[in-house]
Amino acid sequence: MGYRMRPKKSLSQNFLVNDFAAKRIVDSLDLKEDEIVLEIGPGKGALTRHLVKKSKRVIGVEIDKNLCKFLEDKFKDKRNLIVVNKDVLKINLDDFASRDDKIKIVGNLPYKITSPVLSLLLDKKDLIKQCVLMVQKEVAERLCAELGTKNWSSLSVAVQLYSDVKMLFRLKPTSFFPPPKVFSKVIKMVFLKKPRVKIEDEKFFLKVVKASFAQRRKTILNSLSSNLGLEKSVVLLALNKAKIDPKRRAESLSLEEFGELGVRRNFVL
Ligand code: SAM
Repeated sequence: MGYRMRPKKSLSQNFLVNDFAAKRIVDSLDLKEDEIVLEIGPGKGALTRHLVKKSKRVIGVEIDKNLCKFLEDKFKDKRNLIVVNKDVLKINLDDFASRDDKIKIVGNLPYKITSPVLSLLLDKKDLIKQCVLMVQKEVAERLCAELGTKNWSSLSVAVQLYSDVKMLFRLKPTSFFPPPKVFSKVIKMVFLKKPRVKIEDEKFFLKVVKASFAQRRKTILNSLSSNLGLEKSVVLLALNKAKIDPKRRAESLSLEEFGELGVRRNFVL
């Protein structure tokens, strides 16, 4: 197509120009012929061109109207591609998948919306088999972090509670046009059939996890009491019930320990 489009910074438009990496990302999805894949932000189709060869149906959700026209034109002979001109944060995943017919998700994520996209994916985990996502290096390191390291964070806990997450490879800024200021990493998340630890009240659990990490250099006692706005005596009791030493710090607490701690009834005197 003839028209030129200046990449929009506001939409994190850094297009992948490394086809070897594009192929590697798509291969990592292990697509079977009868599987449906949803691509977040297909852009100019760097991943899409490989996806349409491997999947029964590709749903590309792209916010930029001009890029949608570009994609429709570029792939006009591909009947298995549906381009949806929408903000991915406003789509209803239930329109494309069900618990019995789960989908796979792929995307070189627009950096600006990485957090809300991850929340959306976690929210709709029952409809998703797995995701292969390119994110900023630092985010990838938090997603895949191990207990006790500086990257172990509320994001690591929230994501690892529901999925096996693994780092695949790194991409230099020069793999994109225009090159972003940061390095990127590709990660794969495979959702588990059930959460790694049993959670009664997910919202409360996540609130406790966030509060624990909010001031990570403080002890878990001080961090929880100041960030949950609770008397130390209440927090002490909760820590006691979960058999956690109040002097420990959030980064030393395992998922299982957060599971024991993040229970609403623990925090009642
Ligand atoms: N997948 C392409 C590639 O690898 O070259 C483009 C990746 S680029 C980093 C991000 C893409 O997401 C852009 O095409 C941008 O227009 C699109 N985008 C940004 N915000 C979006 C949103 N809220 N919903 C859907 N697409 C969005």
